[in-house]
Amino acid sequence: MKRGITLCSRCFLCGETLENVNHLFLHCKYTQQLWRIFLSHKGISWTMPGKVSEALKSWEEAGVLAKDRGRWRLIPASIWWAIWKERNSRCFESIENSVQKVKLNCILLLCFWCVISYTQMILSL
Ligand SMILES: [Zn+2]
Repeated sequence: MKRGITLCSRCFLCGETLENVNHLFLHCKYTQQLWRIFLSHKGISWTMPGKVSEALKSWEEAGVLAKDRGRWRLIPASIWWAIWKERNSRCFESIENSVQKVKLNCILLLCFWCVISYTQMILSL
């Protein structure tokens, strides 16, 4: 306990292992469900790399043929933002959302960012 905040080394999403950035954003079984949304939608067979930096590099390579590279690059960010928000909701507010709700939040966030991106592109013409 430090400054009224409980420090927990367990993953707030699965509770099965120690929390670190690579587990939280790549390997947690909870997070894996968000990755699967996009991988299965695109029909991509992808082995999750060990580190976040490797995942970004691998994701970039997997998106070489993507129609819209900008949208492609937003996908990891939307997954990680949705996971980070859910992790903090559980950690600091003791509010636990279903994985379905986090998936929906992730997709809505991605759509929102895409709309902003296109709006900025149009306005810059
Ligand atoms: Zn976990």
